[in-house]
Amino acid sequence: MSFQNTREFAQELDRQDELKAYRNEFIFPKVKGKQVIYFTGNSLGLQSKRAKEYVDEVMNDWGNLAVEGHFYAEKPWWDYHERFCQPLSEIVGAKPLEVGVMNTLTVNLHLMMVSFYKPSKTKFKIICEEKAFPSDQYMFQSQVDFHAKNIGFDPKDAIVEVKRREGEHNIRLEDVVAKINEVGDELALVLIGGVNYYTGQVFDMKTITAAGQKVGAYVGWDLAHAVGNVELKLNEWGVDFAAWCSYKYMNSGPGNISGFFVHEKHHHDKDLSRFAGWYGHNKERRFLMESQFDPVAGANGWQISNLPVLAMAPYLASVEMFKEIGMPKLIQKRNLITAYLEFILHEIDKEIPSTEFEVITPASQEERACQLSVYIHGQGKELFHYLMENGVIVDWREPNVIRMAPVPLYSSFEDMYEFGQILKKGILKN
Ligand SMILES: *Cc1c(COP(=O)(O)O)cnc(C)c1O
Repeated sequence: MSFQNTREFAQELDRQDELKAYRNEFIFPKVKGKQVIYFTGNSLGLQSKRAKEYVDEVMNDWGNLAVEGHFYAEKPWWDYHERFCQPLSEIVGAKPLEVGVMNTLTVNLHLMMVSFYKPSKTKFKIICEEKAFPSDQYMFQSQVDFHAKNIGFDPKDAIVEVKRREGEHNIRLEDVVAKINEVGDELALVLIGGVNYYTGQVFDMKTITAAGQKVGAYVGWDLAHAVGNVELKLNEWGVDFAAWCSYKYMNSGPGNISGFFVHEKHHHDKDLSRFAGWYGHNKERRFLMESQFDPVAGANGWQISNLPVLAMAPYLASVEMFKEIGMPKLIQKRNLITAYLEFILHEIDKEIPSTEFEVITPASQEERACQLSVYIHGQGKELFHYLMENGVIVDWREPNVIRMAPVPLYSSFEDMYEFGQILKKGILKN
């Protein structure tokens, strides 16, 4: 499609947008009385009206029923988590028994590592990406330290980062696979962010999973920036485990609950360690208060505590919305709106001689999703402040990278046009 940088053209794309009605389901902050242009759904998604209704329902049931709500609430609390299995499995390409919702993301990755990072003296290495999200780096370091002394390996050698090549912004698939083969027998675990939080690079999870398992390692994915954003086939790819937060593209609210996946091939493996709690115990017998742990079949056998239903409510509203739409439609709009945003950026770049916008997100459609990370050469942080003061919510990373995620659920094409106009004014003013 050949794009035009005009309001009329953007409005026409909005008219043709099958998902346009969903924009009204979300609550946009206002700056100077005007609804913002929101590009940070990759950091905290907007609140939906349905999320608020779902939370209100739990609050009302709690008030009206108190303890009886566990069994007699509109959506009973004692098995509230099971409502996620079907819709969430469709979003991540899993079987319903393979997914669950509990805790928060880094906590769940630690718990998954209890099961899937079982180092020995000769097989203890972890492969991750260079400059992984800081929480993941601290997690790897603390896991390695936790085991190193007991088992007797050197923690300094345990974490192997796959690096970018000199002068390149993204990590090459061939370099990930080569590193996996190089570490070979010593490799215990591969755990990478499915979509890089900084560049927006989407990794080839299928190929990397197969490569890691071929040398005898477990392969897990941190899907914080992938869930609700890219097509996932966790079951088909044979991924061992995965976890994700729900507050980025899935709009469940600040710091909210995490989803996780354990492949069915592991559900009956008695040799896997796990940290247990009563909510992972046999459902029929949970309230008999028995002393011997008998896990529920499937991912929910990794559950630990009584359910934080108030945290689950907005996420349930969200997964139901995603199921209603389906990932293919979201991905179709995602591709179009991201391409339109990139077009607008290039148009403005051409108009203004003093700038050079360098998109560091990979150019190929297979390796990118919602997010564009852009070096704004020739500009400094004043531009960021100008954008924020004028109702464009973006994310700034030093020295001068802007991360922008047009979210297909609630961003409009006219937003992209309007953003371009504000950007142009901001650059000419500074
Ligand atoms: C956002 C994000 C996290 C956040 O983890 P929390 O435990 O929810 O704070 C972790 N890893 C990656 C890759 C992220 O993008």
